[in-house]
Amino acid sequence: MRKEVGNCCDWCKEVVGVYEYPDVPKDVFRRHRYCRCTIDYAPRNWKIQNVHTKKFFQGGTDKELRKFREEQVDIIIKNKILKDKKEVNKTQRILNNSLWQKEINGVKIETISRHTAERVVLRDLQASDIVDTIDNPLKIAEVKYDSLNRPSFSVIGEKSTISINPKNGNVITAHKTHTKVVKKLKGEKNENYP
Ligand SMILES: [Zn+2]
Ligand SMILES: [Zn+2]
Repeated sequence: MRKEVGNCCDWCKEVVGVYEYPDVPKDVFRRHRYCRCTIDYAPRNWKIQNVHTKKFFQGGTDKELRKFREEQVDIIIKNKILKDKKEVNKTQRILNNSLWQKEINGVKIETISRHTAERVVLRDLQASDIVDTIDNPLKIAEVKYDSLNRPSFSVIGEKSTISINPKNGNVITAHKTHTKVVKKLKGEKNENYP
């Protein structure tokens, strides 16, 4: 039995349902990153086992079953956060090592914010995508000021766009560069430098 949790994605919507052996497609057991959909296994004696947590449901009312499922989801989310925390630490370390003292737009990079590392992990970017943006920028935007008068400029690369504070060399944040932007910038580049 596979249930969608939240509004996951089109792929998950496709595989939602109750299946019976031997007609169970492999995809039913697959889960992508951040997917919280539940997959419960009901053997003949009708004790429900969760495929990911291996815990059994000892039978009971619909309400108890719902509660059981919610607990399973909580465990899965908790594990995901723990796993991500390690990944964020690692990403921040790699970025600090690879970018420290690199110069871009006349600014030397000093620090990588925690927020940047979190964005990289959450958005399925690689540390190398950030390094590539610094090494091969497609465009560097001019310095802007936010509502608290803090300066920053964006560096647009093929894979990621990052924001840097020119005053202290802190990499503030990062996100994926939209394909449209890359196409436009690459087109511009080719026109300017044939
Ligand atoms: Zn999904
Ligand atoms: Zn899902």
